[in-house]
Amino acid sequence: ATWLGVMGGGQLGRMFVHAAQKMGFKVAVLEPAMDCPAGHAADQLLCAGYTDSDGLNKLASQCVAVTTEFENVSAKSLSYLAEKAFVAPAGECVAIAQDRLEEKRFFVECATISGVFPAAHKEIRTENDLDQISDDLLPGILKTARLGYDGKGQVRVKTREELRNAFAAMNGVVCVLEKMLPLAYEISVLAARGADGKAVVYPIAENVHRDGILFTTMVPGPNIGKEAADKAQAATLAVIEQLGYVGVLCIEFFVLTDGSVVVNEMAPRPHNSGHYTIDACITSQFAQQVRAMARLPLGDVRQHSPAAMLNILGDIWFEAGADDKTTPPREPQWDKVLALPGANLHLYGKDVARRARKMGHITFVAPTMAEAQANLKKACEILGIAP
Ligand code: ATP
Ligand code: MG
Ligand code: MG
Repeated sequence: ATWLGVMGGGQLGRMFVHAAQKMGFKVAVLEPAMDCPAGHAADQLLCAGYTDSDGLNKLASQCVAVTTEFENVSAKSLSYLAEKAFVAPAGECVAIAQDRLEEKRFFVECATISGVFPAAHKEIRTENDLDQISDDLLPGILKTARLGYDGKGQVRVKTREELRNAFAAMNGVVCVLEKMLPLAYEISVLAARGADGKAVVYPIAENVHRDGILFTTMVPGPNIGKEAADKAQAATLAVIEQLGYVGVLCIEFFVLTDGSVVVNEMAPRPHNSGHYTIDACITSQFAQQVRAMARLPLGDVRQHSPAAMLNILGDIWFEAGADDKTTPPREPQWDKVLALPGANLHLYGKDVARRARKMGHITFVAPTMAEAQANLKKACEILGIAP
């Protein structure tokens, strides 16, 4: 059998494993936690840290190609693996996406070819840097440069005093202050590039976030105009080309109230907003990742049905207001959700439900977007999620 390797044991790894196995590959997962969503699905779980040389050596010698499902694995580990196996995406690409400052520098650098800029921002390393910022950056969002996800490590600040307090609470880690932009809506563009240099781009997704976490993804998006869509797609193709990237990449964009398009961040892997591709596209983002890393031809990105994706967080395992550490969780009413037309339920096999923890998602496919949205709304009612 031919083995593929994946760094990281989360739900993205689990869905990658499923796609790879469907195509006849065996998959090894490297992850320090014994109990992890990808580990349960994998043919082999290498239980080791992301920088553990024994674990890395085993992964590289066993697998023809290695990828990552987690953007915060050590980029150095990916470069190390690349000496022994084909690695996609490359450590250098992942390194850029791991650091918001590097990422923004890169976006600015390729703005002439991509046609888009990131939000106005300033690097904050010390308290002195706070005095240097212009009033123009307030109100803003202070973000840790590294390791933030799902809105974690972010504070919204209106005044200099709030900014000062927020930075003091960051324990000295390097931050970036970003101007708060007037968003009309948010989109993401999923793309993939093969080892042969051919790139494909999926239909654009429109995303709604709640408390910094992705809430829903609609494709086609109800608000997306052609101009913004073309701009974001072209920018994504320019970026993926500029990076010489191999694999699946997702770029998040803001569309502002004046119609302009601003690049937010990129994920060097399949993305939560691309989960709809499993049920609504010819080739899912995970199958695409398998193809890219195995140096096979990329698959058709065509979407065959409108799709509305709802993220399932751990909150619905608990009554409103109940403490998730002391209250025993109760199983949501999946039977009622599954009775809705076009419902595709994906649960990640996480035993412990916690508030704000991503437990699964549901993608509604339907002949029209209106029907998919109506069923998503019904699912929210059944599950006790405010629509
Ligand atoms: P992810 O889970 O997507 O990796 P993250 O924690 O890296 O998220 P961001 O994507 O930077 O965080 O921000 C989370 C959300 O906060 C955005 O999707 C957007 O809704 C809002 N946001 C972030 N930056 C800005 C900004 N400059 N102006 C307005 N809203 C913003
Ligand atoms: Mg992010
Ligand atoms: Mg984001």
